[in-house]
Amino acid sequence: MEKTLFFIKPDAVKRNLVGKIITRVEDSGFRLGNLTLVKLKKEGAEEFYQIHKGKEFFDKLIESVSSGPVVAMVLEKDNAVKDLRELVGATDPQKAKKGSIRSDFGLDVTRNSCHASDSPKNAPDEILFFFPEKD
Ligand code: UDP
Ligand code: MG
Repeated sequence: MEKTLFFIKPDAVKRNLVGKIITRVEDSGFRLGNLTLVKLKKEGAEEFYQIHKGKEFFDKLIESVSSGPVVAMVLEKDNAVKDLRELVGATDPQKAKKGSIRSDFGLDVTRNSCHASDSPKNAPDEILFFFPEKD
């Protein structure tokens, strides 16, 4: 069973799409491992998206993702990382496959409704960002 990190971005939380989006992932065979509603500070968003620092869209991305709460969750399934990326669709909602979450709920390339870990290598670190192990 693989784990991946998924979060519903502020643009979708503000439009009351949390239930609809979670229904999509549950109906696609993902099990919820953990869940939290949290508003990222700018510094937190910058840390999470540090690999994009310096890119032309970085400031817009940080502004958007810290503009309100996100709903972050750990999702579990065989091949969770790859299968969730498929369900989420391409970064730009206009280019995302019909029926994908971003195609149906994304507003534009920045406000594209959700985030999903891009690789089994990065998923554990992204999970730890939202759900630090306490022991
Ligand atoms: N992004 C953007 N403009 C771009 C590319 C990306 O605003 O031209 C934003 C978008 O919200 C995206 C996030 O930056 O989800 C991270 O970019 P990445 O290329 O990692 O896309 P993802 O992995 O989310 O599909
Ligand atoms: Mg990415």
